[in-house]
Amino acid sequence: MTERKYIKDLNSFVGQEVVIAGWVDVRRDQGKLVFMDMRDMTGITQCVVLPNHTEAMESVKEVRTEWVLRITGIVNKRPERNIKEGILNGDIELEITAIKILNKANTPPFDVTTDGREIGEEIRLKYRYLDLRRPRMQKNIRNRHHLAKFVRDFLDKELFTEIETPILTKSTPEGARDYIVPSRLYKGMFYALPQSPQQYKQLLMASGMEKYFQIARCMRDEDTRGDRQPEFTQLDLEMSFVEKEDVMEINERLLIALVAKLYPNKKIQEVPFPRISYKDAMEKYGNDRPDMRNDKNDPDLLSFCWVVEFPFFERTDKSDNPNTEGEWTFTHNPFSVPIKEHKEWLLERKNLGEILTSQYDITLNGYEIGGGSIRAHEAETLKKVLQIIGHKDEDIERNFGHMLSAFQTGTPPHGGIAWGFDRLIMLLENEPNIREVIAFPKTGEGKDLMMESPSSVSDKQLKELGIEITKKK
Ligand code: ASP
Repeated sequence: MTERKYIKDLNSFVGQEVVIAGWVDVRRDQGKLVFMDMRDMTGITQCVVLPNHTEAMESVKEVRTEWVLRITGIVNKRPERNIKEGILNGDIELEITAIKILNKANTPPFDVTTDGREIGEEIRLKYRYLDLRRPRMQKNIRNRHHLAKFVRDFLDKELFTEIETPILTKSTPEGARDYIVPSRLYKGMFYALPQSPQQYKQLLMASGMEKYFQIARCMRDEDTRGDRQPEFTQLDLEMSFVEKEDVMEINERLLIALVAKLYPNKKIQEVPFPRISYKDAMEKYGNDRPDMRNDKNDPDLLSFCWVVEFPFFERTDKSDNPNTEGEWTFTHNPFSVPIKEHKEWLLERKNLGEILTSQYDITLNGYEIGGGSIRAHEAETLKKVLQIIGHKDEDIERNFGHMLSAFQTGTPPHGGIAWGFDRLIMLLENEPNIREVIAFPKTGEGKDLMMESPSSVSDKQLKELGIEITKKK
């Protein structure tokens, strides 16, 4: 359809015949006249079939909402009294001369012209392809793209390289349970899906890449809770030869720049972002993601805050971390270093409960939207942490040998951060949960209602993998 025009551009074709293509948004049959709103990815326009266009009139009588049409028509200025100010194409109307039906549609299970908040979420997720047609979802998904593009361009200018790391990887301790994938070639062996690219990004620092980023998918097999998803997206980055301040500075600058460019109506409450220690946050706010907004009713107010000085370790009885076996577990990231003043304590294994980590979390309006730290880059430090959280020496060699060996080949000091990308977009779009900003999310119970996943697999597939199901539900 080379001659096809986008609906947003119709205004520049007044008096001319054009071709558009799209979906029937609304149809109003007034007998002699039939009105239709047509929709494409760029917007909506009102169309009308007049009685003198007999063939078009015949087709339009049959047409229903969500049918896909190619329409030929003349762009007319609307009479003064019918002009709608402030909306796209409010001053024009397309006089239809011909209609070609490209595809029919069954009566949709729900209305896609509303914002969808009145519709049950299960049915929206079952017919997600339809649900994504609604203007709110189109906006969310397109704005998500703009955000990713802005981040890429910004980091590119700062000499970062976007690098993909494997999805089929190895089980790593990051606080959650791994999703595992059976190997067919090596029966009884498993890959793990990444909980984050943590180890790979540190190994890229060993590789001399110096500045890495990735818009990375992370998979964590956690109990379903709130708006968690089994898979979610991080903006993950890592930098060599940096200290905590350097990582915080570039992230703060990036966040300020993207709000200014993409959300100019929003106001950041305080710049530079305030900082609070974990201890003070707990004392003053009762949690470690303080909501510091001075007006919680303002949907356009953004209050960023850095939370620092977290304890490195905590006693395991407070944690259900599947990756630790000892008395102690890590609170944030086992690959971090303590703050400088507490490094000796770590190496001498004393005052464990008082050691503070170099971790910095970034929060927005009471949500944690990211976290990172300065990392261990010396084998001794990482080994100490792993021992403290209960890994035996032979397990450390087996599971982390590659890290320890990389750290002995000339790995520079480094640190990084990862943002919860879905959550950031959710907050910027004033959405109540991350499912509203993910094209194909799972339900709160971890199900994909559209694809009907998880699902069983054939006996042949199981046999190839050497897997036997002992108890079928
Ligand atoms: N890998 C960490 C996480 O996913 C983030 C980081 O420290 O960069 O929580």
